[in-house]
Amino acid sequence: MKPAPFGYAKATSVDHAVALLSQYADGRLLAGGQSLIATLNMRLSAPRLLIDINALDELKSISRDGDTLSIGALVRHAEAERSDEIARHAPLIALAMPHIAHPAIRNRGTIGGSIAFADPAAELPACLLALGGEVEIANTGGTLRVGADDFFKGLFETALGPGDVLTAVRIPVARAESRFGFAELARRHGDYALVGLAAAARADGKALRDVRLAFFGVGATPLRARSAEAAVERGEDPVAALAHDLAPQDDVQASAATRRHLAGVLMQRVAMQLAEPRR
Ligand SMILES: Cc1cc2nc3c(=O)[nH]c(=O)nc-3n(C[C@H](O)[C@H](O)[C@H](O)COP(=O)(O)OP(=O)(O)OC[C@H]3O[C@@H](n4cnc5c(N)ncnc54)[C@H](O)[C@@H]3O)c2cc1C
Repeated sequence: MKPAPFGYAKATSVDHAVALLSQYADGRLLAGGQSLIATLNMRLSAPRLLIDINALDELKSISRDGDTLSIGALVRHAEAERSDEIARHAPLIALAMPHIAHPAIRNRGTIGGSIAFADPAAELPACLLALGGEVEIANTGGTLRVGADDFFKGLFETALGPGDVLTAVRIPVARAESRFGFAELARRHGDYALVGLAAAARADGKALRDVRLAFFGVGATPLRARSAEAAVERGEDPVAALAHDLAPQDDVQASAATRRHLAGVLMQRVAMQLAEPRR
């Protein structure tokens, strides 16, 4: 199918993009286009105007500011995958990156686009949630930050309003005692996950504290498994606790029972990763 007719504008600054969004209530930002163009072609969406933000250099940097790593919305997946800063300061994202789609898609797809699109089976929203990161947003009121726990609201629904531009994600820099785990199961490498798990914790002697387990592919949004988090912190088996945390539904990809089983398998794998000191 072909998209419905739309206008095109190239934003020259974040303020310009915000102004265009306030002028066109149904305008859509065009980042990597890897999800947006498909939704236009399928006529799931028919905006009057596409606002291309690809020329906005201020959204393309990765920078460390004290204990926080800021990743600009327009950083491509492929750039994140090759970034030394991300490998050093946000190793969970480095672990997740090769699982996202295929190289051609990673060359265009952006960090901001993935977080804004918020596919429930996507890797980066779950990583942001596991890391307790924040989303930075610009709109006509200025800029604001929303914590990952409050950002993912429902199926493809986030805290972003119609006039909002996601400008960056902010992530706490990994410390020596930080532990991370990542695992997913997909039908083929590069497909969206059937079930996935991104995890972060802090080693405290032999114990793990501040455990954050973010499952994806098992609900409308990435989900914290809070009972399993508490079980890991108590040194107990977290797999049994997952029954309190996850209620996957049957769909065309897998039954709820299959997803529950796979979630348990991933939980065991990630628990082993968290138990190992980082190299
Ligand atoms: C075949 C295929 C397989 C894929 N597999 C995976 C996968 O396994 N895992 C995965 O995570 N993703 C996967 N993707 C999606 C890919 O990662 C996309 O790049 C990503 O979801 C969207 O990023 P984008 O930059 O292309 O955004 P776009 O497609 O340009 O935009 C997506 C949506 O986000 C909005 N948006 C974009 N940027 C901003 C911003 N800065 N502020 C506010 N709103 C914004 C747009 O208006 C649009 O509504 C796949 C895509 C394809 C085509």
